[in-house]
Amino acid sequence: MTLSAASPPACPPRLVFTDLDGSLLDHHSYDWGPARPWLGRLKAEGVPVIPVTSKTRSEILPLRRELGLEDAPFIAENGALAGLPLAWSHARLDRGPGPDGLAIRTLGVDIGLIRQRLAVWRERLGLGFTTMSEMTLEALVAFTGLAEPQARLARLREGSEPLIWEDSDERLAAFREGLEGDGLRLVRGGRFWHVTGDCHKGSAVAWLIERFAALRGSRPRTLALGDGPNDIAMLEAVDQAVVIRGCHDLAITPDQASLYRSDATGPAGWAEGMDYWRGEPAADGARSGRASRRSSLHRHAG
Ligand SMILES: [Mg+2]
Repeated sequence: MTLSAASPPACPPRLVFTDLDGSLLDHHSYDWGPARPWLGRLKAEGVPVIPVTSKTRSEILPLRRELGLEDAPFIAENGALAGLPLAWSHARLDRGPGPDGLAIRTLGVDIGLIRQRLAVWRERLGLGFTTMSEMTLEALVAFTGLAEPQARLARLREGSEPLIWEDSDERLAAFREGLEGDGLRLVRGGRFWHVTGDCHKGSAVAWLIERFAALRGSRPRTLALGDGPNDIAMLEAVDQAVVIRGCHDLAITPDQASLYRSDATGPAGWAEGMDYWRGEPAADGARSGRASRRSSLHRHAG
């Protein structure tokens, strides 16, 4: 797609933001088959599908090739950095693209500072946690279910550090408070807790929407899909949202009036959410009962 279209489109341009693990990708198998038809349709419509994930830049690059999302930007490491294809980068504001054709914008803080402060708080409060960088490759493979090459890519962090918490809730609160004093944040993902700079998926999505509006000259209509607590800020930063049923018992309750909750998990829930917001009603009216109910409730709510 090009962002410098000469004539304004009849309807506003659309952007789709999506979490990966447990959303577009199955939590266990990392399969995305059920979402394939929708990805094809959105590509044909020129609607960018923008991964917003806790994954690293190194993990996303092969994935976006496989998913056919190379024309779209991405947000890595829970909002810590943005990867911008040429059509999304700004000649004056961004450094020139690297060999992969992407301009990388750091929206958080450097990983070196995060690791330094984690060491300080562990020492000072005597905390029990294991960071991803401290895990052996074998332990990381066992804990995440990733294949070894992918696990290696997951360890190439630039702006956030995942960790496994092995201590009490009280100490977690003290840890969080200490990090906040350093200008750092602690957010919960599907498998790990993540320590990042003062940025999150929501701030990164808002930044990208502003970037789009500045380049294109019109505000996009935005949709986001996610399954975890670290997706809440993203789900609140868009016009319409889908909470995908998670493989966890955590309550995901974004402050979002235009919200659909899927019955299915992972990529099937992703497709269900797209059906709800963008699907044509089937000729025989055979949407799922829940979607129809929600749909009519939504319509009545105006
Ligand atoms: Mg997730």
